[in-house]
Amino acid sequence: MEFDKMSWIRKNLLLVLTILSVVLGAIFGFALRSTEPSPQTIMLIAFPGELLMNMLKLMILPLIVSSLISGLASLDAKSSGKMGFYAIVYYFSTTIMAVITGIILVLLIHPGDPTIKEDLGTGTEGKTVSTIDTFLDLLRNTFPENIVQATFQQVQTKYVKVRPKVLKKNNTDYLAAVANGTFDYFKPSVEYTPGINVLGVIVFCIAFGIVLSQMEDEAIVVVKFFSTLDKAIMKLVMLIMWYSPVGIMCLIMGKILGIHDLGDTARMLAMYMVTVLTGLAIHSLITLPIVFFIATKKNPYKYMRGLVQAWITALGTASSSATLPMTFRCLEENLGVDRRVTRFVLPVGATINMDGTALYEGVAAIFIAQMNGVNLSMSQVITVSLTATLASIGAASVPSAGLVTMLLVLTAVGLPVNDVSLIVAVDWLLDRIRTSINVVGDAMGAGIVDHYCKDQLAACDAEHKAHDERR
Ligand code: ASP
Repeated sequence: MEFDKMSWIRKNLLLVLTILSVVLGAIFGFALRSTEPSPQTIMLIAFPGELLMNMLKLMILPLIVSSLISGLASLDAKSSGKMGFYAIVYYFSTTIMAVITGIILVLLIHPGDPTIKEDLGTGTEGKTVSTIDTFLDLLRNTFPENIVQATFQQVQTKYVKVRPKVLKKNNTDYLAAVANGTFDYFKPSVEYTPGINVLGVIVFCIAFGIVLSQMEDEAIVVVKFFSTLDKAIMKLVMLIMWYSPVGIMCLIMGKILGIHDLGDTARMLAMYMVTVLTGLAIHSLITLPIVFFIATKKNPYKYMRGLVQAWITALGTASSSATLPMTFRCLEENLGVDRRVTRFVLPVGATINMDGTALYEGVAAIFIAQMNGVNLSMSQVITVSLTATLASIGAASVPSAGLVTMLLVLTAVGLPVNDVSLIVAVDWLLDRIRTSINVVGDAMGAGIVDHYCKDQLAACDAEHKAHDERR
């Protein structure tokens, strides 16, 4: 019996270490809070975590490029079309289910109370982007003008203050307008901000991979290049995985040490947090498993056990794309999902399928309405659901991206965008948890697509074999 336990631990050493890292990170983090460490000390404690984030982020671009191109190039058009179809149907339906769960809960629990709003304070005034701007940015990022630039910059509309000189200084209208503060107006300006434009890179690689798959023998060298690159990157990922327990422990410790007024703010926002967490729990432990079971007739909880490593990495990094390398590993090594499915479905899912984020955005918007004493009509609630879905698709897969796209949901129903500052204080925690649900959602989707496309992939293999024999 003793021997069995030891051999289990040895076989699952990485997993055990990763779980331990979360527990130890939380224990040390809370224990050291009483010593009131300086910002410099916190930075040093979190430093190994910062390095883990860097290593994971370093892998994102080569991983997405090599995995998508090599994965799609090895598929026939019929298989990629079928996979894409199943994946998109799954993404939309589960995201909508997540939003509905969140909205029902926030309406039932009613965590927002206008009387505590003053205690939490609000941010500064300023003109923010509208729904149409966000939508246009989504399309601009989908079709970047320069693929190299897309690897480090993305488009984001900002509003710049303009003060035209069309009126003479002594004009009374001018003076009155300046005195009333109504003279300034804001002009939309399309700017580039740092960060990989994952959507643009994905779209380019999908198109490139599909074109390669249509070409005959002349494309072999290029395909081989990307599949060798893919293998090499996965070897690097394995090395990073062994370092990840140290990094995750330090990330969690640093986060816990860095939070101010942990008690007060958290207490005031407790019901809001309970609502979001209950929604995420229902979605990940009930809704997604039911969908998975109906689609595949397999035990969803057994499947989820193979994902623990990715789930914990998401908790540590709060970024779906930084977790991507681990998600690949878990699905391919632990769960035996076909490489061609993971290569295609996971990078796309990490970018556009964010059930946790969608649920959170729906809850947060209605919570802010409740805090302002605003009763939303049925059509406004539906608008919140739809924009929360769109906002989750548009959210980048990096920490706190959901907070930014929240503005879209708030403006759509005319709520004050500055009130996002009400929920910022607890976002460090909710972000981690919703990210891990985003990752679980992507992984379950890959399992479902794998199940439905097995025959098609086998046919594709047979065709390749016959082609090789003919040569
Ligand atoms: N951090 C989340 C993710 O990477 C996005 C969000 O902020 O909701 O999936």
